[in-house]
Amino acid sequence: MSVISNLRKVQERIRQAEIRAGRQPGTVKLLAVTKNVPEEHIKAINEAGIRECGENRVQELVKKYDLFPDVKWHMIGHLQTNKVKQIAGKVVLIHSLDRWSLAETLNKVALSRRIKFNALVQVNLSGEKTKHGLKPQELKDFVGEVSQLDGINIQGLMTMAPFVEKAEEVRWVFRSLRELQVKLIPAYPELKLLSMGMSNDFEVAIEEGANIVRVGSAIFKG
Ligand SMILES: *Cc1c(COP(=O)(O)O)cnc(C)c1O
Repeated sequence: MSVISNLRKVQERIRQAEIRAGRQPGTVKLLAVTKNVPEEHIKAINEAGIRECGENRVQELVKKYDLFPDVKWHMIGHLQTNKVKQIAGKVVLIHSLDRWSLAETLNKVALSRRIKFNALVQVNLSGEKTKHGLKPQELKDFVGEVSQLDGINIQGLMTMAPFVEKAEEVRWVFRSLRELQVKLIPAYPELKLLSMGMSNDFEVAIEEGANIVRVGSAIFKG
């Protein structure tokens, strides 16, 4: 099946990038992004050992959670506050905490259900209007405020690079996220995760310190 051979190629490229970066092979988590992916392909990668998947829409995530309850589901897309309740208890990590109103809602829902949401703070480094996320200069105060909320565990940072022809052109985006992490770590040692890199640019992201890459089309297309 071509999905499996794609998956194996992506895994090997991850391994090579880890080695190039002088990092221990196996330390970068591959998150398979399953948006618009048919059930049978999710089942196939699941059987091939992939246990963590990402979705960018609540409705899809909830549907796939019911189909694949053993998969650890990640919410990677923009999250509307009125949909937070639907994913409570169904996500292991939210990659897209991008505003205070969402933090407040997550906290409220978490406290009422006696759960905690694990979340990454999304940063918009490119300044593109079409992308969500905090401005780098807003990050420190935001992290400080969110870390006071009992219903949210912040675990790191996430970014999306602009779409470019050559991944090298967005190396600075990944390097900048890593630099922000390095600055925050002394005060917030819990910010261990860097979710960055997609099909087009995951190797460069790994070289710059990603420990979660979110890969869809390189696995599921073609
Ligand atoms: C779709 C998506 C991805 C995966 O993109 P590919 O280019 O298909 O690998 C990663 N992150 C987010 C937030 C996405 O929406």
